[in-house]
Formats: sequence, structure tokens, C-alpha cells
Amino acid sequence: MKMSWFNGLAYSMVLFLLPVCETKAQQRIDAAIEKKVDALLKQMSLEEKVGQMAQVSIESLGATNNNVFSFSDKMKDAVVNYKIGSILNTPGLQTAADWNRIIAEIQEAAKQTKLKIPVLYGLDDIHGVNYVGGSTLFPQQIGQAATWNRKLVHTCGEITAYESRAAGVPWTFSPVLDLGTNPLWPRMWEGYGEDPYLISELGNQFINAVQQPLGHKEKLIVSLKHYMAYSDPKSGKDRSDAWIPEHYLREYHLPPFTKAIQANARNVMVNSALINGIPTHINKHILTDILKKELNFTGFIVTDWQDIENVYRRDKMTNSIKEAIGLAINAGIDMSMIPYDYKSFCTDLIALVKEGVVPQTRIDDAVRRILRVKHEAGIFETPVTWLKDYPKFGSAEFEQAAYNTAAESITLLKNNNNTLPLKANAKVLVTGPNANSMRTLNGGWTYSWQGEKTDEYAAKYNTILEALQKKLGAANVVYEQGVAYKMKGQYFEDSIVNIEAAVQAAANADYVLLCIGENSYTETPGNTNDLSLSANQTALANALIKTGKPVIYILNEGRPRIISQIEPGTAAIVDIYLPGNFGADALADVLTGTVNPSGKLPITYPRYANDLAGYIHKPSEGSGNPQGGATAPQYPFGFGLSYTSFAYSELTIDKSSYDPAAVATITIKVTNTGSKTGKEVVQLFVSDLVASLTPDVKRLRAFEKVELQAGESQTIKFHLVLKDLAFTGVDLKKHLEAGTFTIEVGNLKQSFTITKTLIF
Ligand code: BGC
Repeated sequence: MKMSWFNGLAYSMVLFLLPVCETKAQQRIDAAIEKKVDALLKQMSLEEKVGQMAQVSIESLGATNNNVFSFSDKMKDAVVNYKIGSILNTPGLQTAADWNRIIAEIQEAAKQTKLKIPVLYGLDDIHGVNYVGGSTLFPQQIGQAATWNRKLVHTCGEITAYESRAAGVPWTFSPVLDLGTNPLWPRMWEGYGEDPYLISELGNQFINAVQQPLGHKEKLIVSLKHYMAYSDPKSGKDRSDAWIPEHYLREYHLPPFTKAIQANARNVMVNSALINGIPTHINKHILTDILKKELNFTGFIVTDWQDIENVYRRDKMTNSIKEAIGLAINAGIDMSMIPYDYKSFCTDLIALVKEGVVPQTRIDDAVRRILRVKHEAGIFETPVTWLKDYPKFGSAEFEQAAYNTAAESITLLKNNNNTLPLKANAKVLVTGPNANSMRTLNGGWTYSWQGEKTDEYAAKYNTILEALQKKLGAANVVYEQGVAYKMKGQYFEDSIVNIEAAVQAAANADYVLLCIGENSYTETPGNTNDLSLSANQTALANALIKTGKPVIYILNEGRPRIISQIEPGTAAIVDIYLPGNFGADALADVLTGTVNPSGKLPITYPRYANDLAGYIHKPSEGSGNPQGGATAPQYPFGFGLSYTSFAYSELTIDKSSYDPAAVATITIKVTNTGSKTGKEVVQLFVSDLVASLTPDVKRLRAFEKVELQAGESQTIKFHLVLKDLAFTGVDLKKHLEAGTFTIEVGNLKQSFTITKTLIF
């Protein structure tokens, strides 16, 4: 054991674990900024205030000719005459210099208004600054989560913020803190997986890296999305109703947002769908009572796309858009992503105030929040930032960080008889619809909303085929596509190209690398009626299995497509999720053994399309129920293999019983028992054995990733704040009940008791 390293780690555990356990909200307000906001508010007319609450999409304010976007008079009309507060979105991919010009023109227009309030521009930086040409694209959030590496996620946040400021944009619509609990939902991959603790830990890394210190020229305002429970619709379809009682909302969906608010996140975007039949945009309890009052959120709330209008058009809850505007603003919405008909929004909201439907105080509160955040972002002093001041934009250093994240995300799910790494001088057949596509490596939100132009814009990066040709030598790589996606069709459409050719090519190969999964999508276009891998891809897999060659599946997908029918015939399986522009290089290094895989599933990988219970489930849903229930995932949450092996020993707890207010100290020794250096994610699960609300079978409560050389051991220390083990009761209070708890790390278990019940 290296003592110095261990001490350092123990210290960092204290840093990581203790602050997030505080329940007190830590939103901050700067007195000097409040004074400036007061002064502005006093000078503003109702029209000017309502303008601040309006957000408009850029493509309605100009046009693109010969690949250059230019504003029409509509931009000045919106900014100068209507004094709109914010603009979003992209008119097609722009370079950083284009963005500088766009932002500068908007801010010039803002200067022509009486109060010269700068416009706050926002973009969806979903995996890096994906709407800025030449930027550094990271794995999508699900891949970042699979690294279980806080530092890598932090670096991703730093680079995202830096590159966004290089483009002049001070606000990002990220991170996604939705719970990836329903694999049918088409946006599961946009989040950090299915566990509230994992999401909170990684989310806070990203938020701190992007936002702190507030107002710095390399930092942005974050937007937490999509508050809350957007990810768990009953139908599995995007933007549909979730049926979730409040104690479950508070137990599972709320905590990542709570932790992020405590980290001082300055903006929140609302769940575009409904909870228990109520569109979240008009849910005052969720927006005002919980977020603004209980969590003491002092930033501003923005709607999602067109979502006030949706209350009227989609949800049939009002007789007009105007009525929906009244409900939403009174529920606590501060800014509306309208995003087109802003004139009607302004006219309607002004009328609603004059009619007494929306109180003036509500408008003042909304505008105060917006102006506060504009000040905090530093855009009053520096309305535009310029590419020339950001020399590291798109640099090799940043690309290396994206590669590192991809390399640590790759998750080895199966490796029969040490099929991987590939033997030296191997001849491989590379096949499948994902084998030669930059689009599938990146997924949606890449250069465009649905990611359909990625092969054009990311041509200089390597597809899986290209990376393997470089790594193994072109002579050792044969390519047959087998099955192809329909590039102009819907994301789920594919067709057989030539399965027989792939089968014949396999005859001369030592291995078959079958690259399967999904084409790019997001939001409603990504809905699915069947989680199973497509019939054509399944047919290709079955034909290749029959050749008798070792078949290795490369899963390149945003959500876990069911592969149980074709799993038994395969020698190895590697899940690369949506690893971004450097994902194929990282994969080639994993396949050849240059990189030892260390990714772990941040989700449960289901075996059957109709058995979708996640790892967070009740005894009745698991093997504890002899009358039904048992769930049998293909691969459990937290799973992932390595080219080396690890053993756990000496699990100790500092006491056998505790007061509920105590902190337990847990140590565990982990040893690399194999012959290669490798990284292991030490995961600590806790089970509450008996509780007055049926307990979850187990919950992740701490983790740490460590690197160990062959034969090396390290002892890791966790400080567990026992109050964090409390569950939310039906009374909506936190309950930590006296009784026995079990700790599980690796294959080891220990128990302790809590001596008395604490309800808070
Ligand atoms: C998405 C959000 C996104 C917004 C702005 C919406 O359709 O749901 O995640 O931030 O558009 O592009």
C-alpha cells in the first residue's frame, strides 16, 4: 500500500462526501448586484419588464445565404422595440468567429435601448459546445457517467465553458440531471444514468467547473434540466405524463436538483411534460413551493421549448395561450422559451398584468431574478467575449481530454476466455451499421439537433473502421457493412446491404467486430415502440455467429437495446455508448489492450424488453418475492470487466452501532490480483433491512475510482453521513429508522445498527 497516496485519497473522500451531505441550501446573492438590479427595476416600464421575460429562437430573426447567417430587421424589432431578454438556438452550425459576430450584433442592438440591458444568449452544450464548428466534443453524458470519474467530468465542464465563451455564449442548457430510469425514454443518454447519487456527484462536478467563479470570463451560467421527473413517463414516450407520488419524486428525482441548487446553479429549465396529469410548467407546487421556497433557489426558471403554448395546444387545459401564460407565470415561470411568437406573448402578459390576473409583484420577482443572473454572468461589463482571447479553443490538449473521457467510459460487458485484447497481428472483419459512422459515435445534439450532418462535419475524425485501420494496419482490416441505416429516414430504419458478403469475409478473419446499436436521435423523433435490437441487425449477428469465428459486439447506442437472443453466441461485448469524436480511437486502444477498460454501467442493462426494473427497486420487484417480481437484467448497474482482476478484503466499519446523527467510517482494501495495471470503481451500497416504507433492496451511497498496478493494494476510506441513508416517507419527511443496515462493497458485506429513529 502506498501510504502517501492513501492519505491523500482519504482526505479527498472527506472533501467529496461531506459537503454534499449538508441539507441547507447554499444559494448566494451578492448585495452589490442587488443594488444594481433595484436601480434598474425602478426605471423599467411594464413593457420593458415583460420583454426581459421573453426568449426567442434565432432562426426566426434572420436567414442563411451561402452558409452565412445574417440578421434581418426582425432582430432589431425584437431587441430594440420589444426589449426581449434572451435569444437561443442555432441557425445551423456556426464557427466560433461567426458566433462572435452574431452575439456582438445582438449586444449592439441592446445598446440602442434606453436601459442597455444585454441579451442573454443560451445554447445546448450537450457534450461540449456542439453547435460551434471546431469545438471539442466529449462522450454524451451517459458515457461520461460510465467513467465514474469525477475529475474527467470536471474537466469536460471546464472545457465546455471555455469553448462556449470563445464563441461568445455565456449560458449553457446543461447539465441534464434527469434520472435515467426508463430505457424506453429517448433521452436517457443525455443524463448521467439511473442513480440519484451518481447523478448528483457528477452533476455537481460539471456545475462547479462550468459556473465557478461566477462571472469569470471562462465561465458560464448552467441550466439544470429538466426539472423534474421528465425522464420517467408512464408510456416511455417523450413529453408524456409521469405517474409519480410526491414521496417518490422527493426520494429519487429531486435529490440531484437539490444538490445542484446547493452548488449555486443559477438557472433551471422545466420538465416539458406532465407529472400526475399536471403540466410541470403550471405546477406551482413544484416550481415555487419546492424550488424557490424550500430549496431557496435565487436564480431564474426558464420554460422548455414552446411549453406554455403546450398547456393550451397539447394538454387541453386552457381555452387560449393567454390563459396558459397566466397560469405558468403565476406558477413561477420567469422566462418563456416562446420561441417564435414573442409579440403575442408580450401583449398577452402585459394584458394579464393590467387585468390583475398576474400580479405586478410576480413580474418584478421574475425580472429581478433574470437581471440578477445577467449581472452574475458578467455580461453587463463584458457583453461579448472573443475567440482571440481563447487560444486553447479546439486544441490538442482539449482533444486529449475528450479522448481520455471516451477511453474511461468504454465498458467491457463480456470477455469469454479472454477473447480481448485482440492478439498481435490479428486480422479482423469490421461490420455492422455503426462501423463507419461519425454520426452514430456522437448521437443527437451534434452539429444539429438530430445529429444527421455529423459525417460531413466530423469527417476529419476516425470512425471505428478508420481507427482500426490505423491501429492494426489497413491490410489487416476487412470491411463489409452488412446492414445500413437509412440516412434520410427515421433513426430506427435500417436495411440489409449484404449479409452474405459479411459472412464470406469472416472466413479470412481471426475476429469479427460487429458494430451495432442505434442511429442518432433525440427527443420525440427518438421514441421507440420496441427496445429490441432491430431485426436486420439481429439477422446479421446470427449469420456471423454461425461462422464459428469469435464475434465481438461493439454496442454503440444511447439506450440499452435488447440483445439477449444474440448474446449467447458472442465471445465478447464492449459498450461504447455515444463516445464522441475520439470514441473510435479510444475503442481501438481498448480492443488492442493499450487501454485497460474501466467503464462501469451507469444504468441497468435489461435482458428482456418487458423486464425493465432498474437496480433501485423494492424487495417485491426482485428475487425476494417468491410469488413473482424477480427481475433478471442482462448486466447489472455498476457492472464492467477489466483485463486484470480485483479482489476486495478487510471491509471494516468503525463501530457496530451508531447514533443517527453520526458519520460512519468505512474502510476497504482492494487489490489488483491480475497481471496488468487497471482502474477499479469501488462502489459502496447500503441496504436498510426493515423500514416502515418498503425499503429499496440497495442503494449506492459512495464510490471512488482507483488505479492499481499488478499486485498493488490500496485501502480506501469512506465517510458516510448516516442521515443520507434516510428515506422519504409518505409524510414527505426524511426517516432514518432504528434497525440494521448492511454495507456491501464488492463481494463483501458488513452490518451495523442505528440506535434510534430520526425524522426530519
Ligand atoms: C429540449 C431542451 C433544450 C431546448 C432548447 C427542447 O426541445 O427539450 O432540452 O434545451 O429544446 O434547445
